Amino acid sequence: MDELHKIARAYYTTANEESKSQGRRFFNSIDHDSNRRITIQEYLPYMKRNGHTKMANRPFFDYLNESRTGELEFMEVMTLFYIIKSGRKICDGCDGLLKGTFFSCTDCFAADDESFNLCSKCFTESKYVHPHKHFLDNYIILENMKLTLAEKEKKIRQMEAAMANHQVSY
Ligand SMILES: [Zn+2]
Ligand SMILES: [Zn+2]
Repeated sequence: MDELHKIARAYYTTANEESKSQGRRFFNSIDHDSNRRITIQEYLPYMKRNGHTKMANRPFFDYLNESRTGELEFMEVMTLFYIIKSGRKICDGCDGLLKGTFFSCTDCFAADDESFNLCSKCFTESKYVHPHKHFLDNYIILENMKLTLAEKEKKIRQMEAAMANHQVSY
C-alpha cells in the first residue's frame, strides 16, 4: 500500500468523532448519487469546482483508486481528504504529487505568491522552467521558519521588557 494511503488510514482510525464526521461530510459532498462509491464523473467536477485543478485528472484518480475498481471507496477518499487537508503540493515540473522531500522557490515563497515546488528528480535534473533560481528543500524552509518565529518572539519579549521598564521609571 502506498504510504499516503497508510498515513490517511492511520489518521482516520485514530481520529476523534468530530474529525471522522468531517471526513464523512467530505465524502458525501463528492458522492453525488449517494451510492457510497465515487466515480470519475463525480470526482472531476468536484475537484474542479473546489480549485483542486492539478488533481482533477485521470492519473490522480487512478492513484487514489488503489483497489483498482474504477470507483473510489470511503478510505480511498480519506486519502484525498488527507492530501488536501495537509496541503500536500504537486510538482510544478512533472505534475506528480510531492510525497517526500521537495524543493520550493524561495522568491515565490517569500513573496507569498503561488509557491513553486519541485520533486527532487525535477530539481536535481533541472527539469523545469522558472524565472527564479533559488530553491530550498522543505526541511530547511521549516527550520528557517522556526528561526524567524523565535526571532520575532525574542523581539516582542524585548519590547515588552522595555515597556515595563518605561512604566516603572515613569
Ligand atoms: Zn517533478
Ligand atoms: Zn519563483
